[in-house]
Amino acid sequence: MQEFQSKLPNVGTTIFTVMSALANQHQAINLSQGFPDFPSDPNLIDRVYHYMKTGLNQYAPMPGVGLLREAIANKINRLYGIRPDKEAEITVTAGATQAIFTAIATVVRPGDEVIVFEPAYDSYVPGIEVCGGTAIPYLLKAPHYRVDWEAVEAMITPATRAILINTPHNPTGTILENSDLKALEALVAKYKLWVISDEVYEHLIYDGAVHESVLCYPELYRRSFVAFSFGKTFHNTGWKLGYVVAPPLLTGEFRKVHQFNVFTCNTPIQYALADYLQEPSHYEQLSAFYQQKRDYFLEAMSGSGLRPFTCKGTYFQLFDYSGVSDEPDTDFAKTLTTRFGVAAIPVSAFYSSGLDEKVIRLCFAKKTETLREAAALLKKV
Ligand code: PMP
Ligand code: GLN
Repeated sequence: MQEFQSKLPNVGTTIFTVMSALANQHQAINLSQGFPDFPSDPNLIDRVYHYMKTGLNQYAPMPGVGLLREAIANKINRLYGIRPDKEAEITVTAGATQAIFTAIATVVRPGDEVIVFEPAYDSYVPGIEVCGGTAIPYLLKAPHYRVDWEAVEAMITPATRAILINTPHNPTGTILENSDLKALEALVAKYKLWVISDEVYEHLIYDGAVHESVLCYPELYRRSFVAFSFGKTFHNTGWKLGYVVAPPLLTGEFRKVHQFNVFTCNTPIQYALADYLQEPSHYEQLSAFYQQKRDYFLEAMSGSGLRPFTCKGTYFQLFDYSGVSDEPDTDFAKTLTTRFGVAAIPVSAFYSSGLDEKVIRLCFAKKTETLREAAALLKKV
């Protein structure tokens, strides 16, 4: 019999699953995988139940429930000043992971190169490789993780098909600025590249900064798929619903893949979210809500041997632990979990080279008491 040839020979179980399992096994406070430990709004849950009871339990239309796509168009208009056509430019997806994977599958052919910025969310590179492409990592370095766009331009070859960006950025907590998006816009126009923009943390941005969405740059948007996630926005990561916004031609191609990939997503939750989006305060207060958590956590951690980096967005805080340990970051994350009772993510997991700069990621999407308890344990390190 022919040997099975893995398409992803170097991929194991994701670090999020590994660290959450270790946290459970040792009853550690889980600040590793990114998810809230507080509930989603009961009113939103009631809306889901309402629509289930009303009988909206069969397949939704393939691109998503019309009322939800309408509500998304209104939200985008309110936030970014453009109104994508709900029929031709918005598709509801099973979370952002599927949105990004399907966008990759829509544009990447065998032999294509895709530039990714590492540390990178762990689904990007395997997604590119499954489609026969090669991920070309641009290395972002601690502590600032800035992009030099001239260096990015130097990486472009005739095989470069796309660039994948993420702002606010997981795991570093950095954000792209207006100058970054302008530089990217010029590059993609010059080299005719496609862009996949992961903007799942659009509402988690701090200290008065404004989220620079690809949607605000017409020439850039013309060549882009922009991915969002309701799980991040409304504290229900387990519902796995998100959406992709892309110009009509790209959306048409995206849907050709999407319809044979998932076909359609959870119906009652889509109706519930359509209602919930009618009230902008549900998403507009999120920055203040999470900024308060970030500040509380940093204050609680002051005096610890872990040195925080600047977090401008997302619900992740990085710490340099080189002052307290020489262990590789994967070992240190395990030590924290098993000996000190707090689970963390080693940032080397987000580099395909495994680059270890002695940095760990902690998630602060947690109740105040969880953060207080975790900080007290971490200060013993
Ligand atoms: N992109 C980034 C940067 C993320 O942190 C996440 C969170 N898991 C996702 C995509 C995936 O989002 P979803 O849970 O909606 O698939
Ligand atoms: N986005 C979350 C994180 O970065 C987890 C997603 C996952 O478990 N795949 O922690």
